[in-house]
Order: sequence, then C-alpha cells, then structure tokens
Amino acid sequence: MLFGDVVLPANTPGLVGIAKLAAESEVLESKRVVQYFEIQSKSLLNRTRPGMPFEWSLNPYRGCEFGCQYCYARYTHEFMELRESVEFEDKIYAKSGIAEILRRELKRMDGRGGIAIGTATDPYQPAERRFKRTQAALEVFAEQSGFGLSITTKSNLVTRDIPLLREIAKRNSVSVNITITTLDAGLARLLEPRAPRPELRLKAVRAIADAGIPVGVFPNPIMPLITDQEARLDRLAKAARDHGATYFGGGVLFLMPCSRKVFFPFVEKHFPHLLRRYQERYERDAYLKGPYREIMRERIFGIREKYGLKAGPPPREIPIPEEPQGWLFSTRIV
Ligand code: SF4
Repeated sequence: MLFGDVVLPANTPGLVGIAKLAAESEVLESKRVVQYFEIQSKSLLNRTRPGMPFEWSLNPYRGCEFGCQYCYARYTHEFMELRESVEFEDKIYAKSGIAEILRRELKRMDGRGGIAIGTATDPYQPAERRFKRTQAALEVFAEQSGFGLSITTKSNLVTRDIPLLREIAKRNSVSVNITITTLDAGLARLLEPRAPRPELRLKAVRAIADAGIPVGVFPNPIMPLITDQEARLDRLAKAARDHGATYFGGGVLFLMPCSRKVFFPFVEKHFPHLLRRYQERYERDAYLKGPYREIMRERIFGIREKYGLKAGPPPREIPIPEEPQGWLFSTRIV
C-alpha cells in the first residue's frame, strides 16, 4: 500500500480491519496524482443510524476524486490510516466482488428499508468509467423486485446507466438526486474542482427525466454567504424545474473536523472576508445553530412552492414480493 511517498507493507504492525484491507489492496491504476486500488469488502450494505431518510447505504468506492472543498466524507479515509484531508481524493479504492456480495446481502435483507447509493463517495466519479462498480451493483438490482433505491451524484455519467435504471424501475422504485450547489461555473470549479460543470449536470437531469425516472436537484450543502442567496437558489430551482426535476432538496453546510481542515483554508484563500464568520460559527460545532437554519428552511420552502417542486421523489406503489422487501425514498445528499 502507498502511504504518502512511503510504501507500507501489508504486514505493517498495528493495522487492523479496514486499514489492513487497504494495505493489502492491489493498485489498479496510477495516473497523475490519483491512484486506484482494488479493495476486498466483506459487506456492501451498511445500516444507517436511526432518523436518516433511508435504512441502508451502499458505496461502491472509498474516496472521491471530485475533491469538493466541503466534503464531509473525508473521515472514511481515517479508518484506513490515510491522511483524509488530501488522500481522500487521490487514493480511490474500488470495491471488489460487488455482484456476489450484493446478491447475498439482498437475499438476507429483512424488513423494509430504502437503499441510498452514494452517501460517502460519488458513485459516478471518474473511476466508474473504467471500473464500473456502480454499474455492477445496478445490474444486481435489475434482477430484483420490491426495493427502493436512490442514487446521489454530481456526475452526468449517470446517464450511461439510464437503460439499467429503466429496467430496475419496472419492479422497484428508483430515483436520482443530482447535486448542484451553484449554476456559476467558476464558483463550482472552485468548490468542486473535478466534478462535471453545472450545465452538464442539468443536461443529465433532463435525460433522466425524459427516461421517466424521478429526478431531483439538491443544492446541498448550502454554504452561508457563498451559495445561500435567494436569487441564486431561485435560479437554480427554476433551472432544475425547466430540465424536468420534480423535487428540490436543501440542507445547510455542516463541517466535521476533517472537513474544516480543508474548508477553512479554502475560505481563507478565496473568501478571506468570510473566514472569521465561518470560524466563529463552525469552530465549536459541526452544525450551525440559531435562526439561520429556520431562515433557510423557509427560503427553500418558498422557492419550492414558487416552482411547484416537492421536497423529495414521489411515492410510488410497487409490487410487494412474497418475502417482503421494502422501499423508501431518500432525500440525502453527498
Ligand atoms: S462528490 Fe460527494 S463524496 Fe465526492 S468529494 Fe464531493 S462531496 Fe465528497
């Protein structure tokens, strides 16, 4: 395993669990500064904590090349003894054995519960073009019935899988959440350096809507004084509606310690006049307190009303299989 510039052998003392698996991973490809590894996974579906809008999450990769400045998922590299603040976007782990593991886990799944793909990594990041781990998971869902699936992504690569999504939708429910924090391409490039341009994401919304798959746009995370202005959100919601989205999310930025390490220097460099306010608001708590959240909730609510958008995908009746497996819709975003 590579660790910075140093190769850590798989038998490095003290490595256990996911860190040990990471150390044993085979390099799939190395290009520029990004390296791709194959990682063995024992399981794919993870139970989420109570209160989440879905019961299970599924992430075909670890790490995410898009490298968003606000990304909260960097902590997932901590478990692998990697420097989460930089290596999260440079060392991408593709999970192996997706189809077999998923088939086995779906067979055992009890009760009802929605499955969200892309909660800690983007399932359509550049690695997916080559390694097709998300596609492998969708092929399994296309064999199933009665499940509720949501996919969250910033990438127009999701349109490659439209035929599969249509197949899945015949016997399951499936919806796609496209994250667009801003329509301003320059600002998006700063915030999400390697993610597709906003206009490409909007085109993906149109293609998915035209295919009859429920699709929504999430401006998450809404960043105070950077993307939260009413006019910006209004334009985004209108564009979403005009491209066939039927719902529009909305969640305010939260900054875990691992995210602060990247986001504060980013603010200092590009929005120095905002640094002190961000520090005051986020230094002691990952979540904003006070009236701001309520103001934003009302702002998003008003904009949704104006454009006839819902908060989440429409509930849809799907046949319950003999061994009931449930469905639920996710409004969660990465
Ligand atoms: S796309 Fe999502 S998972 Fe990837 S870096 Fe951005 S916020 Fe993180």
